[in-house]
Amino acid sequence: MDVPAVPGKAAVPCHLVTDQGTNSKSVLCPNCGLLVLRPGLARLTTRQMSLPCVYHKKAVPEAKEPQTETLEHHWVVEDMYTFENVGFTKTTNGAAFGSEPVLRYLACADCEIGPIGWHSPSIVPHKFYVALNRVKHE
Ligand SMILES: [Zn+2]
Repeated sequence: MDVPAVPGKAAVPCHLVTDQGTNSKSVLCPNCGLLVLRPGLARLTTRQMSLPCVYHKKAVPEAKEPQTETLEHHWVVEDMYTFENVGFTKTTNGAAFGSEPVLRYLACADCEIGPIGWHSPSIVPHKFYVALNRVKHE
């Protein structure tokens, strides 16, 4: 068995993805378990994206420089009404993180932990990205 590693593929457990490339499980808030997306509604996409490390909105002082993490695997949906529950941060300058210039982060609508993903209002048609590593699958 000498199968070359496919970069970026190994990190996604295949039981999370259907043959159609959609999410086989519900996507939940990693903190409180709120339902974010129902199964089969989002497509897996690979795109490198820097996001600030997970924080709880109330726990992090605004002035503190956020540390970032590069995430590669995202669930993408094209309509915000596809989400069962999601919250948005105010518009952020993502260029500071080497990302799209205008960003809104997605956060849990209930406990406000985030970012669990992002959306760039300047990208048309609209796409909403949820980072696989930032959510729970059940
Ligand atoms: Zn939550």
